[in-house]
Amino acid sequence: MPNALNQIYMMGAVMLVLVIVHAVCNTFVDYRGHMMGAMMESDMRGELFEHYQKLSFRFYDEQKTGQLMTRITNDSFALSELFHHGPEDIVISLLNFVGAFIILIKINVELTLLVFLFLPIMAVYAFYFNKKMKRAMRKSKDRIGDINAQIEDTLSGIRVVKSFTNEKTEKKKFAYENSRFVDSRRDEYKSEAYFYEGMMVFIQLMTIAVIIFGGVGIVNASLDLADLLTFLLYIGILIEPIKRFSNFTRLYQEGITGFDRFMEVLEVEPDIQDAADAIELRHVQGNVEFKDVSFKYKDDYDYVLKNISLDIKVGEYIALVGSSGVGKTTLCSLIPRFYEINEGKILLDGRNIRDISLGSLRRNIGIVQQDVYLFAGTVSDNIRYGKLDASKEEIIEAAKKANAHDFIMELPDGYDTDIGQRGVKLSGGQKQRLSIARVFLKNPPVIIFDEATSALDNESEKAVQDSLEKLTDNRTTVVIAHRLSTVRNAQRIFVLTDNGIDEQGTHEELIALGGAYANLYNVQLKI
Ligand code: ADP
Ligand code: MG
Repeated sequence: MPNALNQIYMMGAVMLVLVIVHAVCNTFVDYRGHMMGAMMESDMRGELFEHYQKLSFRFYDEQKTGQLMTRITNDSFALSELFHHGPEDIVISLLNFVGAFIILIKINVELTLLVFLFLPIMAVYAFYFNKKMKRAMRKSKDRIGDINAQIEDTLSGIRVVKSFTNEKTEKKKFAYENSRFVDSRRDEYKSEAYFYEGMMVFIQLMTIAVIIFGGVGIVNASLDLADLLTFLLYIGILIEPIKRFSNFTRLYQEGITGFDRFMEVLEVEPDIQDAADAIELRHVQGNVEFKDVSFKYKDDYDYVLKNISLDIKVGEYIALVGSSGVGKTTLCSLIPRFYEINEGKILLDGRNIRDISLGSLRRNIGIVQQDVYLFAGTVSDNIRYGKLDASKEEIIEAAKKANAHDFIMELPDGYDTDIGQRGVKLSGGQKQRLSIARVFLKNPPVIIFDEATSALDNESEKAVQDSLEKLTDNRTTVVIAHRLSTVRNAQRIFVLTDNGIDEQGTHEELIALGGAYANLYNVQLKI
């Protein structure tokens, strides 16, 4: 019978085509779905990174880098799986479930109702263990963050660890975090196992109930055997979506706990932002004025600065002296608005810095600090940080002004020498001169030196001092220094004490006054 054979071949061909279509579609969904998840994850990560850069000093004072890194890497990862499989799991299990319900109810109404009696009980069970699961997952995500924070802390301080031979202590600290993580995982897996196995038990109970109820029905002759067997066969298609949904729940909790951690930071409003009508400053002269400024780091802390008033004229070179911890660094970090002041106002060229856009305010202020931060990369990369579009010549010129050119030329690859993470391959004085070259390139009208030479040996100090003086030409300069030799040349010296600015004047005037400054000076002369 060629006709029948033809039909069989036809069927075979159709099935073959279907298999191919199925495989192609599945591959597409799998590949595109995962890519979609990855892209959504990448977008979220980008958004969080951008947000991190907006958050203020106050935020970072309280945070651990390791935790922040975990939020941006680990926590967003679980989300991409959820984004991809979540919709698919929900749609497929819902469709299957409704389909199964229709088929079952057509076979036998009573048995179907019996089966559906289990559902509310299962829902309550699932809800309870899901809550537990969520709590446990959240905890283990926090703990992974703690582990990363611990690693970050130890590795950043690895040189200190080794010099104190405190490897054992660090290992203990790490072991503690590590074991706390295992504990949280234990809770997580326990509730997961209870949840999943519980659901399986309910599914089996469902089948047993159908067999018993159906068996009784057969004995009473209210049900025929064929119906019961068909029903039992089809109950499998109801079980499948329930299992799928249980799997989805885990995925969901994993993703949503990550999402919560993610959103927690994303929802932090940067506490220092541009005002709605912030102005862009174009040509800054460099007049800096403090009017009755009071500041404390946190609301429940004491004031660090109280009623500070000072007026620094355009191009003036002033020095700020005072004992350690009195608030000199704090005062300087208020000018670029790293922290928001509590009372009073700070003016740049007569404008309240709160009305100036942060970008244009900070572009006009250069800061050289005692601990220099250099980025991993080459010497020229780091100098270029002061002006991203600087030419090679400009970089060299800045390096020359900063007395850095000579030592750079002696490095193995000159300007292309890799300086290691945080510039570990350079000496303190060299790092400081690079940071000054960076500010030369930036060329701001206001400059702050915060103990820039305090940690240096005499020779480097002289080189740095020399380049500092070049930098101060025609700029408003605030110098904080321990060594009074550095401040002698200042046009005005302000002495900061716990009571505010106690004395001000030139070196000679303050010596003649015989107050706090004269005391500091005499003490240093004796050493
Ligand atoms: P100085 O530079 O004069 O040595 P600082 O301005 O660094 O002093 O510090 C002034 C005071 O403010 C100190 O008592 C210090 O403990 C406190 N302080 C400094 N930075 C912070 C901060 N980020 N958070 C809370 N308190 C701080
Ligand atoms: Mg300081």
